[in-house]
Amino acid sequence: MKKLISAIIFCAFMYSCSTVPITGRSQLSLVSNQEVLALSLQQYNEYISGAPLSKNQANTAMVTKVGQNIANAVAAYYEVTGMSSALSDFSWEFHLIADNQVNAFCMPGGKIVVYEGILPYTQNEAGLAVVISHEVAHAIAKHANERMSQQVAAQYGGAVVGGLLSKSSSTLQTLGNTVFGLGTQYGVMLPYSRKQEYEADRIGLILMGIAGYDPNVAVPFWERMSQKGTSVPEFMSTHPSDANRISEIKKALPEAMEYYYAVHGGAPKTTNPSNNAKSSDQWKF
Ligand SMILES: [Zn+2]
Repeated sequence: MKKLISAIIFCAFMYSCSTVPITGRSQLSLVSNQEVLALSLQQYNEYISGAPLSKNQANTAMVTKVGQNIANAVAAYYEVTGMSSALSDFSWEFHLIADNQVNAFCMPGGKIVVYEGILPYTQNEAGLAVVISHEVAHAIAKHANERMSQQVAAQYGGAVVGGLLSKSSSTLQTLGNTVFGLGTQYGVMLPYSRKQEYEADRIGLILMGIAGYDPNVAVPFWERMSQKGTSVPEFMSTHPSDANRISEIKKALPEAMEYYYAVHGGAPKTTNPSNNAKSSDQWKF
């Protein structure tokens, strides 16, 4: 813990931090995005080349449609906020895998994978948007980079100085294997932290709103997941669909609805000065 704290202090002084889009949270960033992308892409390519694609054309088309709509929502948000250049690292892909796991993930760079086993819980397009927007939120918030950085900080503490990481590619490779974990028994990433999960929920709801999906459907979706009850990687791994999570989602809904109304109209106009959603004429969606 001492090492982690010293690394965070180090981060504060040496600008080894980045800012999470939408929430504005400052996060530790000791590993370059290029390094994270290279590692994750390598593991993703290995995984997807051997993965059994779904033979259900309608569901496959739905995954692509929802994935593209959420990707468009990200692009719209980044354009309105002048951050479009940050999307140059993204090259979206959408896949539905013939597998009964109740799961989905989005690798850094926008590689979205949904397993057929989650579809009975999503039930429809909007329900699927809850899942995909949550996963895309992890990717645009660079949560994988943050997890790798936290591991680096815990391992090396204040010794993490410029150049050390770039000279230690084997160290990074090991960290990448740990963080992404593709090729392990479930073929998915290791759990995110609770803070990252809640943040992905909040960002995901906003992306849903921008994309024109009703963010409110997240509540019944998570209730269905909660009734499932067993622990499943990523989607239910970290203190998953407990009551706290659903209550946090309910708290985040008004903000997401502001985006929904700002982009798609039909709105009760908000007078909340903290409203981050831009007025509708700024959205080209
Ligand atoms: Zn998650």
